[in-house]
Amino acid sequence: MTSNFYSPVVGRLTPYVPGEQPKISNLVKLNTNENPYPPSPRVIAAITQAAQQGLQLYPDPESTALRQAIAAQHGLAEQHVFLGNGSDEVLAHAFFAFFQQGCPLLLPDISYSFYKVYCGLYGIEAQLVPLADDLRLQVADYARADGQRVAGVVIANPNAPTGIGLPLADIEQLLQLHPHRVVLVDEAYVDFGGQSALTLIARYPNLLVVHTLSKSRSLAGLRIGYACGQAHLIDALERVKNSFNSYPLDRLAIAGGVAAFEDQAYFAQTCQAVMNSREGLILALEDLGFAVLPSQANFVFARHPAHDAAGLATDLRARGVLVRHFKQARIDQYLRISVGTPAQCDQLIQALADVLQLRG
Ligand SMILES: *Cc1c(COP(=O)(O)O)cnc(C)c1O
Repeated sequence: MTSNFYSPVVGRLTPYVPGEQPKISNLVKLNTNENPYPPSPRVIAAITQAAQQGLQLYPDPESTALRQAIAAQHGLAEQHVFLGNGSDEVLAHAFFAFFQQGCPLLLPDISYSFYKVYCGLYGIEAQLVPLADDLRLQVADYARADGQRVAGVVIANPNAPTGIGLPLADIEQLLQLHPHRVVLVDEAYVDFGGQSALTLIARYPNLLVVHTLSKSRSLAGLRIGYACGQAHLIDALERVKNSFNSYPLDRLAIAGGVAAFEDQAYFAQTCQAVMNSREGLILALEDLGFAVLPSQANFVFARHPAHDAAGLATDLRARGVLVRHFKQARIDQYLRISVGTPAQCDQLIQALADVLQLRG
């Protein structure tokens, strides 16, 4: 749909389509990589308390308490942390701040599909770099001849929707290939067994690392994401944010976020539970004949050599199990399955076994 009232760019946008958030309950929801466990009880207590005092007042525009908690967690200083309303907002501001350079931004052909959406929003040309046949990223493919300008590099590590993680040495190589451009590493899933590039920040002025509390800290509903990098990069993000929305995090989010970082034991325990379930899920899928990519995330990417993935997703939905299927070249025979609780994983496997048996 378009109309004469629109700014011209609006009709040309291709918006992101999030996974289904069903209105009916009782579904086994393994389609949007949420954590199967609720947040720490200390988060609930902190939010409850915050709700009882001060909601008539604007929140701290700098979210100082939460930036301090995050900085302390990662051994950084407060001025190395930028917060946003979910990491999607952080990513959007980063694309605006760093990648509108009049030359193409490098990103993998198979990756988080929101990256291309931001390119469309801000008029950034996306140069898609194909993953290898085994869906691994090869850093050498990101080298460009002298004189071939690029706006920067964006990758997810571990990658989505493959789940495959890159070692730190590869990230360093990427940073060295493009020392005059920002290399953005989206670590939405790093807490499930990946290697974080946060340790490289002191040595690389072009590195921006983006994290979210939506996955490993069970707070998708609260909307908190952050970026870490050297102060000059964080300053640029602050300039953009303060030209857009002074208060991206509300009082409940700030209080809940701080409490989440105070309960490291709960965080470690739930991440470990998800990783344990993941290994069981991979074995069970392989028993059913699936080929499963190695995953360092809270989801697995799997295909069955004899059954169409879209059909399997439809059949699973009819049995109350939601998984994600992407109608995209190269990956349209894969299912992305979020790692649930052991009970949810069992329900998925049981439903899949039924579906495969009926199909013969
Ligand atoms: C889930 C996800 C995000 C978005 O996280 P929010 O903080 O909930 O906005 C960003 N990047 C990747 C790769 C993701 O999978």
